[in-house]
Amino acid sequence: MVLIVYILFYLIIGCKVSSANKLRKRDLASCLVNVQGKKVYPSDPEYNSDIIDANSRIMFTPSVIIHTNIVADVQFSVSCASTLNMSISVRSGGHSYEKYSTAGAIVVDITNLNQIDIDSAAKTAVIGAGNRLGPIYYALSQAGFLIPAGTCPGVGIAGHALGGGYGQIGRKYGLALDSIISMDLVDATGRLITVTADEYSDLFFALRGAGANNYGIVTSFTFQIYPTLPKVTSISLKYDLNKIQTLFDATKQLGPTLPDDISFSIVIEKSSVEFQGVYLGSQSSATQVMSQFISLSQPTSNQFTEESFFDSVVRWGFQQTSDTINPYHSPSKFKAKSFYVKSSGLSAEGVQSLVNFMKGLPTACPTYAIFDLYAGGAAARVEENATAFVHRNVFHSIELFTTLNGDNTMNTQCYNQLNSFGEIFQSNYTDYSCYQNYIDRDLTDWQHRYYGNNLPALIAVKKIYDPNNVFGYDQGIPLV
Ligand SMILES: Cc1cc2nc3c(=O)[nH]c(=O)nc-3n(C[C@H](O)[C@H](O)[C@H](O)COP(=O)(O)OP(=O)(O)OC[C@H]3O[C@@H](n4cnc5c(N)ncnc54)[C@H](O)[C@@H]3O)c2cc1C
Repeated sequence: MVLIVYILFYLIIGCKVSSANKLRKRDLASCLVNVQGKKVYPSDPEYNSDIIDANSRIMFTPSVIIHTNIVADVQFSVSCASTLNMSISVRSGGHSYEKYSTAGAIVVDITNLNQIDIDSAAKTAVIGAGNRLGPIYYALSQAGFLIPAGTCPGVGIAGHALGGGYGQIGRKYGLALDSIISMDLVDATGRLITVTADEYSDLFFALRGAGANNYGIVTSFTFQIYPTLPKVTSISLKYDLNKIQTLFDATKQLGPTLPDDISFSIVIEKSSVEFQGVYLGSQSSATQVMSQFISLSQPTSNQFTEESFFDSVVRWGFQQTSDTINPYHSPSKFKAKSFYVKSSGLSAEGVQSLVNFMKGLPTACPTYAIFDLYAGGAAARVEENATAFVHRNVFHSIELFTTLNGDNTMNTQCYNQLNSFGEIFQSNYTDYSCYQNYIDRDLTDWQHRYYGNNLPALIAVKKIYDPNNVFGYDQGIPLV
């Protein structure tokens, strides 16, 4: 008898849940009726391929993906999310390390908001938030300009610039977010506003560093742009991995005093280490500027290549020219850890522990570490509380990136090894903070690690502009 009562109870509740789901689906479809863009629902044949982005390790299953090329669609979508009390996320380049751009019940894909309007006289560009870095570098270079941003051509400008954006001209011009002049934003009520240093200055602060799906959907940016030189010089210095410390010693001693015209990364792989840089000037001048660094660090080979700025973008993006101009997704499973080191950089013991860790990983999990030098450059000259991006007083940013090419068991082993190493490495050798663009769901106390002393101000802005957490996700700015 008791069993029958239980079965009846579950049948009734089950029916109620499934009819509530049906009702929700109907409500969602009818609420989105004014959206002109394509709507992809889980029952549509293209849904499964549509939820695959750069990282195929994680899979969210949104209730709908909306592909739009007009701002009004973004406004309707946000209004529906608010009305139906559903979460919403926006996808720009789809390169979130934890795939958070598809974490919302409603996903708005803004890839087609991709205008690029350059005002050469004012040295500004209005850049649609759906653009990727490769096409932006290309369009700007055709007009004789550049912006500072990262190296991967497929990364979206929106997620990138709203969380930071560091690359091969970072020491000269800082982060991508440092060149933002204004942003058009659809807020949690569906209203379209223009955010500048004078209008909505609290949002202007918060979006530049904590803008990823926290306060609204940015539909376009106005960036300050910078004239390109006819030629720049790409620099590659290779080192014997056993003598890696000579490179780190030279970087410590000379890195911060190198001219801003030089930006570079140190890239360590299992059996190699390379200095990869760009000098904004001629080859002869680059050779001169680097001579002391080279005699101190003793590379096994050095290569200076004079080329156009765009060709240097193609080189350090490790893509073909055509794939830089028209980037495509090549999904893989990956996991990354982020660290910052302050003052004089990582200790020799820290460097060795990183190298040993990489050497010990299974071959199914190829891993690299990239050290970006902030010290002495433009990014480090901005006050920590001038934008939401707090990581200013920094020597190196370090990214440790593992591709998970094995079977499930092997991938889980590598994933766990990376997480455990990350914890030990951070507590022994690096600062407490981490880069929010290398977002990591396994990080403890991520709020403070990503936003430091800016966190209370960011929570206060969240309360004003998204009090119902329409844009909320697991690692979004909290309300308390
Ligand atoms: C292969 C690779 C190379 C990289 N190289 C660099 C590098 O050189 N330098 C560097 O600094 N970083 C680099 N990154 C990190 C990169 O900056 C971040 O992953 C960034 O968040 C990606 O932005 P996206 O628009 O492509 O991703 P998405 O997944 O589309 O978005 C990322 C986050 O931003 C939110 N978002 C997207 N668009 C908007 C919008 N319009 N308004 C509000 N929120 C939005 C999303 O909801 C999501 O939470 C790299 C990443 C990868 C995968």
